Amino acid sequence: MPPTSVAEHRQRVAELVGSMPVLQLPLEECLGLVLAADVIAPLALPPFDNSAMDGYAVRAADLKPDEPVRLVVADDIPAGRTELTPLEPGTVQRIMTGAPVPPGADAVVQVEWTDGGTETVTINRAVQPGQNIRIGGDDVQKGDAVLAAGTVLRPSTLGLASALGLPELPVRRRPRVLVLSTGSELVEPGRPLELGQIYESNGMMLASSVRDAGCVAIQLRFVPDDVEAFHQALKPYLGSVDVIMTSGGVSAGAYEVVKDALADHDVQFTKVAMQPGGPQGSGRYEGVPVLSLPGNPVSAQVSFEVFVRPALMASMGHKQTERRTAQARITTGLTSPAGKTQFRRGLHDPSSGQVVTPVGGPGSHLLSALALSNCLIEVPEDVTELPAGAEVTVRYLQ
Ligand code: AMP
Ligand code: MG
Repeated sequence: MPPTSVAEHRQRVAELVGSMPVLQLPLEECLGLVLAADVIAPLALPPFDNSAMDGYAVRAADLKPDEPVRLVVADDIPAGRTELTPLEPGTVQRIMTGAPVPPGADAVVQVEWTDGGTETVTINRAVQPGQNIRIGGDDVQKGDAVLAAGTVLRPSTLGLASALGLPELPVRRRPRVLVLSTGSELVEPGRPLELGQIYESNGMMLASSVRDAGCVAIQLRFVPDDVEAFHQALKPYLGSVDVIMTSGGVSAGAYEVVKDALADHDVQFTKVAMQPGGPQGSGRYEGVPVLSLPGNPVSAQVSFEVFVRPALMASMGHKQTERRTAQARITTGLTSPAGKTQFRRGLHDPSSGQVVTPVGGPGSHLLSALALSNCLIEVPEDVTELPAGAEVTVRYLQ
């Protein structure tokens, strides 16, 4: 079978994952999610004319620009007061920031321009009508389309929704991803290792990547290389996850548990024209989308970045599904296999004139090199050699 191109496999993964349903979620759960419909302001902001200062609500005409005026303080309006008495001419009302301006008042004098009196007050300076009053609707008018569908919900947009009195927003919910690690050699960190065993690391890395993309990760870390055990391990999760993402057991050797277990299901195993991350599985298991990534840690993580992350982002309605990219010059030469897109790990420093330094070699077991990198260096399929100084595309990992 000819190898699948990176673009074709990306397309297939995106189609399998699809779109999450839209639901109303409490604001507390919306950070980082995407609005699924326009938000129309149900009220104005501010909802009423209110004071911008601690001071005195006045009629501007009662004050004099060049001599102090002494007036009776007829009432006191702390923030939160809901019933107001009209301001009688020749009197003032003490008022706090955010409190409603009483009818009849047309300005607020800040307390610093007065003697701060509570029975009577001496006001030393005049104000213009409208001064220190925040007019109702100054920020948002009732009926305004304040937030557009497609907006990524950030702290400020969630603050605005709260100010508008909205307890929930319509969003596409976060996909629930089962992150399943296969391999009879895998041991839980914290336990002793015997020769031939390694600590499980893909689960932590991939589950963190899933969460970093704003999705929910459920980790299932120690599925042995046994087909029956694999099926049994999946069973409890089939009704509750949106995507099954496995690592390991998909290459050409014996004991390839994922390949063996999913062979008679609707799952296709292909070689994608890339390095690392060539062997990939994708399809459905009991109706649930399944993405089977290779087991080598760097291959698994690169596969997540190239195929899975964009699909998960799209499933939540993000328009920006891709990581940022930049053009940079490599500091050392590279070789790359013919006919494969190579993703090398790199450290990109935009401050030093857009250069990128490859970290570690092409080996897909070099986890520490990945950990020290901040980008992937993309070497196109048809390029087999790049000299130092050549321009490459870098794809940020964060
Ligand atoms: P496999 O594709 O299952 O043959 O795995 C390829 C390589 O990746 C082997 O060296 C495995 O030990 C290693 N590997 C597979 N899964 C994991 C994992 N979850 N954590 C760490 N290493 C793994
Ligand atoms: Mg394995």
